[in-house]
Amino acid sequence: MKWLDISQGENSQAAIEAASAIIRTGGIVAFPTETVYGLGADAFCEPAVRRVFEIKGRKADNPLIVHVADMKDLDRFVEEIKPWARQLMAAFWPGTLSIVLKRKPGSFSDVVTGGLGSVAVRMPDNKATLALIRACKTPLVGPSANLSGSPSPTKAVHVKQDFDDRIEAILVDDAAYIGIESTVVDGRGDFPVILRPGAITLDMLRDVVGQAALQDSADVEVPRSPGMKYAHYQPKARVWLVDGDGKAEKIRRFLAENEHTGLFLSSELAHRIEAPMVITYDDTIKAAQLFYAALREFDEAGVAAIVCEVVDESGLGYALMNRMKKSADNHYIQ
Ligand code: AMP
Ligand code: MG
Repeated sequence: MKWLDISQGENSQAAIEAASAIIRTGGIVAFPTETVYGLGADAFCEPAVRRVFEIKGRKADNPLIVHVADMKDLDRFVEEIKPWARQLMAAFWPGTLSIVLKRKPGSFSDVVTGGLGSVAVRMPDNKATLALIRACKTPLVGPSANLSGSPSPTKAVHVKQDFDDRIEAILVDDAAYIGIESTVVDGRGDFPVILRPGAITLDMLRDVVGQAALQDSADVEVPRSPGMKYAHYQPKARVWLVDGDGKAEKIRRFLAENEHTGLFLSSELAHRIEAPMVITYDDTIKAAQLFYAALREFDEAGVAAIVCEVVDESGLGYALMNRMKKSADNHYIQ
């Protein structure tokens, strides 16, 4: 895997050109975004897209998000954009919002969208990645650059851990500043419906278009966002959440019974606990930035268990808790 470093701002033009040459000839290049790193390939090159599914170990019915750099890129493969969806794009792009739209039949291979007549699109907030998409002259698929089921990559080294010699190159930037995947909304109805929560919240959508809703996954037989039904964000160690009254006591009890435990805690709680392996966060923004990296760091250290303190579910906390609960498969220590 070629390491094309642009984090210091030097040689970024040469790096972008090298990366685009690889993608234009059907290769795979991981790219940085504000959410997590993505595995980039030409959305119109079916063999490359198939290889993305294969190396991730991703189920064929779990569609990929297509990344664009300019609104006009959508004309090639999107059939219809409602006025309110355009308003959201104007408000949040480039940024952490993926929108599911009706796709033009026959535009690209069904492999990209898992056979769906829709396609999720996003314009990521990273200058180098936008320049890369423009240089490729094609939209790029960009699923999170991790093996399916593992924690998503927020740093280039995480991509190396999962794919070292299985992809051609990585465009290396600083750590992702959001740290959890984009908000996915269904853009085909009369108002946005959130299929996967992210840093763009329900209230932020309502501020722009008035009405917005969260998908109630309880009453849909086939989830509208197929990816949400699979196990996700799970490190090798077993993850537990800690919540409610007496968190410090609960953790102390857990530590007494479980050796080799990593703790992911607010600094406030961490002050009250003595343990060898603790990663702390000061607020929800920091917690989201650090969460996946912490899971990977604890795995590297060979822990058997990871205990994460829950965050308040307001704002970004709702999306982070969605990821934390999936990591822990909803298990709480008592
Ligand atoms: P990732 O590539 O890991 O960021 O995951 C992408 C998420 O977007 C998955 O949960 C997918 O199921 C969802 N997604 C992508 N395309 C569509 C689509 N056309 N309709 C509904 N959900 C989608
Ligand atoms: Mg993913």
